[in-house]
Amino acid sequence: MKLYTYQTGNDGVDRLGVECSGWPGMLWPVEAFGLKFNDMHDLICRITPRQLAHLADAEAATEGNALRLSNVRLRPPIPHPVQDIICLGINYAEHAVESARFHEQSFLLSREKATYFSKRAYETTGDGDPIPAYTGLVDSLDYEAELGVIISKDCKNVSEREAQNYVFGYTIINDVSARNLQTEHHQWYFGKSLDGFTPMGPCIVTADEFAFPPALAISSTVNGELRQNSNTDHLLHSIAEIIAELSRGITLRAGTIIATGTPAGVGMGFTPPKFLKKGDVVTCEIEGIGKLTNTVK
Ligand code: MG
Repeated sequence: MKLYTYQTGNDGVDRLGVECSGWPGMLWPVEAFGLKFNDMHDLICRITPRQLAHLADAEAATEGNALRLSNVRLRPPIPHPVQDIICLGINYAEHAVESARFHEQSFLLSREKATYFSKRAYETTGDGDPIPAYTGLVDSLDYEAELGVIISKDCKNVSEREAQNYVFGYTIINDVSARNLQTEHHQWYFGKSLDGFTPMGPCIVTADEFAFPPALAISSTVNGELRQNSNTDHLLHSIAEIIAELSRGITLRAGTIIATGTPAGVGMGFTPPKFLKKGDVVTCEIEGIGKLTNTVK
């Protein structure tokens, strides 16, 4: 099932909804199932397996409660992450090559060990909302389509074999990056964390919908031109490996968001680079999750 955060009308209130497999394009308010959560993070932390199964059963809610997805304003599924997003750097082989070619000192990293960094995202950006250009501060704005993994319950010392039991679901993240800030400041944090640099959505697909590990086509386009085109099966460090490794030392709290890295074809990978400019329309797409489209403003 697909879980959404959405708004109707102009009251500015975020609501939770579910789109079930048999009813594409229809959205049921979570409240119509007699369940109440403050927001998506609260749902992830508190929902029981039984309640989750209940949500997957669209017939349990009356059809009269259904909305059309096209009639609501989509918000990012998790509008306010409670912690910085954990990101993987250089987690697809061909992206490693293109990055090192662009700026060897910043991107020539070991592939034996995963590269972890974090991204500040007090507020994420929904499908259809703008990506700020930061003219005067950023001269090399770039996109990175990534599979986002959402952790379902606190985990510590989880083995690779058990890791899939800790995945709540998946989303699409565009890990927007300012390459000049990323390289000038040596650490990537600033260049990845500007306000508006974390488009996420359009929904969270619950883990039961995909085999584990998920092997999903992942792509991005800019103004309709195909830029990235790969499969999440090609991760250098798998989701199970990431969860097992991090949880050896860090308790990964329920609701933790992990951006698993981006494939080749980002703007800095082209000669000359194809960085984003105002008016550009970026779409990140992952099979089975959907499309996340944002315009640079
Ligand atoms: Mg990235």
